[in-house]
Amino acid sequence: MLKCIKCNRYTLSETCALCKLKTSEVQPPKFSVSDRFGKYRRMARMKNGDNDKGY
Ligand SMILES: [Zn+2]
Repeated sequence: MLKCIKCNRYTLSETCALCKLKTSEVQPPKFSVSDRFGKYRRMARMKNGDNDKGY
């Protein structure tokens, strides 16, 4: 997938149709956002548990 870095538009052509700039290739994210937030929530919970033990 290609993306114009100026107007942040995803495109399939090598030049942006709007600003005529060369687009750069971008990799689509492997993990969904919800999964990532779930991981962080779990990590945060573990951290809090450790803090409780420390006090
Ligand atoms: Zn553009």
